[in-house]
Amino acid sequence: NPRIDDIKTKIRVVPNFPKPGIMFQDITTLLLDPKAFKDTIDLFVERYKDKNISVVAGIEARGFIFGPPIALAIGAKFVPLRKPRKLPGEVISEEYVLEYGRDCLEMHVGAVERSERALVVDDLVATGGTLCAAINLLERAGAEVVECACVIELPDLKGRERLKGKPLYILVEAH
Ligand code: IMP
Repeated sequence: NPRIDDIKTKIRVVPNFPKPGIMFQDITTLLLDPKAFKDTIDLFVERYKDKNISVVAGIEARGFIFGPPIALAIGAKFVPLRKPRKLPGEVISEEYVLEYGRDCLEMHVGAVERSERALVVDDLVATGGTLCAAINLLERAGAEVVECACVIELPDLKGRERLKGKPLYILVEAH
């Protein structure tokens, strides 16, 4: 697929960021190319436009870049899943384990109704812990998670296996 090949070339890999030994996949260079950015959104929209999805849930922070244009194009609402203490209303929270320590995602109560069909969007899946927390939040609110969608997968970390059986769709694999 030539569009995906082009998207792959636009993702910059920054060695030793944010710490030694990490090869950071940087999507900000993809955003600098309007054609590749549009192709990225279009590929997701083509996949999800006829799937009766009423919620696109985007994970802070880079899920806030890719999620909203997908939501607008498929006629779904956008729900931000945020880091702790950012959302002003009543929230539900899900903690998850990181390599060092813990983190947490929060969602506003009432943002999603029972039985809504949801798509979870982020830039990248590594261990899958973040997506798993997002799935748990949506399921606790009674929504059905149809799929998770990311631009990049680090397949060696097997994050796909932590998604509670939910399908994962990605555009690019990085190693
Ligand atoms: P996971 O929970 O281990 O799957 O990590 C995924 C989360 O960490 C996502 O929210 C990503 O944005 C972030 N992340 C981890 N590694 C990278 C990277 O190389 N580039 C960009 N984001 C990353």
